Amino acid sequence: MSRFPPQPKILRMTRRTKHIAAVIAATCIALALLASALTGNQVQVDSGYRLAMGTFARIIAVAPNEAVAQKSIDAGFSRQKRVEELMSVYIPESELNRVNAKAHQHPVRVHPMTFEVIERAVEWSRKSNGAFDVTIGPLVELWRNAGDANQPPSAEQLAEARTRIGYDKLILDANQLTVQFTAPGMKLDLGGIAKGYAIDQSVKAMRSAGASAGMVDIGGDISCFGSPAEGRKHWRIGLQDPSRADLNMAESANLLVLQFATPSNDAIAVTTSGNYQRFTVIEGRRHSHIIDSESGQSSDALASVTIIAPDATAADALATAVSVLGAEEGLRLIENTPEAEGILISSSDVKRLIKSSGVGQYIKQ
Ligand code: AMP
Ligand code: MG
Repeated sequence: MSRFPPQPKILRMTRRTKHIAAVIAATCIALALLASALTGNQVQVDSGYRLAMGTFARIIAVAPNEAVAQKSIDAGFSRQKRVEELMSVYIPESELNRVNAKAHQHPVRVHPMTFEVIERAVEWSRKSNGAFDVTIGPLVELWRNAGDANQPPSAEQLAEARTRIGYDKLILDANQLTVQFTAPGMKLDLGGIAKGYAIDQSVKAMRSAGASAGMVDIGGDISCFGSPAEGRKHWRIGLQDPSRADLNMAESANLLVLQFATPSNDAIAVTTSGNYQRFTVIEGRRHSHIIDSESGQSSDALASVTIIAPDATAADALATAVSVLGAEEGLRLIENTPEAEGILISSSDVKRLIKSSGVGQYIKQ
């Protein structure tokens, strides 16, 4: 089951792909120690894929020795677990569910990490003019139930859910770390941003534990920092062809390869949102898990949106926002965000890549 709406290069699993994924995961774990290659005086350890945040996650750590590399991998995964426990709507006792249940009755005090993510989410709700909307919860729930019932929501249901949505109906108190709703039935959903935050937090935790470089991958959203070991200059990440998502991790399913040289203090993140990754089928029609709060409908114009930015939290929110905005307005938002670049693929022509002006520097020729 998916806790945070995942990005599933690897997901969308049939029983067969589940089996293959399990074998790959087991093999990766078994090979992890063998693969800890001694490079100069740096060691690189690969965790292999593990279940985290409702999807598959993997951490590669480069450190002066294997013990430090392992410690930083553990630190990264434990930070992901903490973020999930606080912010998942799929964990009944999560802090976010407590907020959703009580914040209309009184201000609810939250953990500083939860507050930070909600604040960042509101910031992106504003920047995207509500395309990203942290209060999208009622519509997400409505569409999830519609999927279970195999019946699209009615116009009345959509109109009613929309009365409970709007990031301007949220009151945040940064001194008290409280969250309050001004309308009954409101619900926050951090599914479009929390994975990015968990990635940034994992990178921080790894650095504190002594890693000099590394890569964190949560369901295909990735951040890399520092220089890879084995004398390589670049981290390489494949951009998957949305029409061949069933090939999972096969290299042949890549449309192109992105590469990054990240000096020791820099990190770069690549996040992807898309309707090919997670969707609901209702009466034979595919609906993205990303919803436009204005129309109440699923956002299906773009098959995938990939954002490259130093900060994974921003990249995650921006990818979701651009999925709602569509190609033209979405590209404008990317161009207006100096630190971000993007590659968009339209659902109507998955072979045509729509690129932001500065993305070429990251594409391997
Ligand atoms: P991502 O895969 O990062 O694009 O996140 C998609 C998830 O974000 C969905 O599964 C919902 O939990 C949530 N979501 C859906 N629509 C929106 C929206 N318009 N604004 C913010 N979050 C959304
Ligand atoms: Mg997102």
